[in-house]
Amino acid sequence: MTERATTEWVRVRASGKINLALRVGPRRDDGYHPLATVFQAVSVFDDVEVRPAPAGTFGVSVTGAQAELVPTDGRNLVVKAARLLAERYRRPDAGAEIAIRKSIPVTGGMAGGSADCAAALLALTVLWDLDVTPAELAELGALLGADVPFSLMGQTAYGQGRGDDLVPVLSRGSYHWVLAFADFELSTPAVFARFDELNPSPSRILGVPRGMLEALASGDATALAGVLVNDLQDAALTLRPELARTMDAGLEAGALASLLSGSGPTIAFLAPSEEAAIDLSCELGKAGVCRTVRRVSGPVHGARLVT
Ligand code: ATP
Repeated sequence: MTERATTEWVRVRASGKINLALRVGPRRDDGYHPLATVFQAVSVFDDVEVRPAPAGTFGVSVTGAQAELVPTDGRNLVVKAARLLAERYRRPDAGAEIAIRKSIPVTGGMAGGSADCAAALLALTVLWDLDVTPAELAELGALLGADVPFSLMGQTAYGQGRGDDLVPVLSRGSYHWVLAFADFELSTPAVFARFDELNPSPSRILGVPRGMLEALASGDATALAGVLVNDLQDAALTLRPELARTMDAGLEAGALASLLSGSGPTIAFLAPSEEAAIDLSCELGKAGVCRTVRRVSGPVHGARLVT
């Protein structure tokens, strides 16, 4: 008889995302808006570490940036992930202590909660030694949040439906971004509600701009800058007009383009090179138009085992 080694702890790292294109269609009867989007995973990461715990116990601790804004009870997506996984794979004996170290801004439009959820799904699959395929994990993830399947996948992907019907996109090279994190939150439902007010009778969803996939395939940052689009941007700007100042400051400091990330309030600036991104981040920092400035690159991997 072979003894199975007891796993002490498992750590997974997952990235935040920006939407290079976010097209939003008319609100459906079930409340959802159909989306057409191109995601890019960027190099801002949360770490999720899991350890064994008594059956049915799911404790959470959160450290790092804005930890105080993240719930540590059953509302946290990692707890929902753990419960769902234990139920689906019939593991009433399973439990876990889950430690989250945050760098992805909370309620920042960068899918930080989804990243933690994806990381927890992967980490617990290993900790509990479950026989789960990547496709099954993505399916479970979609039940927990529309961005979770992309958080598992990473890189660059085209998403439809709620954003969870994904195909990978060829992207050459690396893009240099400067992120401006706001000192306030913007709730995703509030931004969609304002979008509905501003677009009372949209007839159909617009597609991802012509040229975006070509720009990504060729690695041409200037061409990509010309086609970045976010249909939620006007809604976010009317809710928080000060975001326009942040955008102007980045463009004046040499960004090729500015873009609201998801439902905001994070603003992403595309820089023409790594050196330009360094200059841009210094200038933006001095301008005092945001809480923190962070230089990232993309695309990067999705949820990955660290240990
Ligand atoms: P989205 O654009 O997907 O709505 P977001 O990136 O704007 O997400 P998140 O950081 O994912 O925002 O947080 C959204 C909400 O989810 C917050 O109100 C937060 O309290 C809650 N939440 C639950 N679990 C987590 C988690 N592990 N990390 C961050 N927020 C979480």
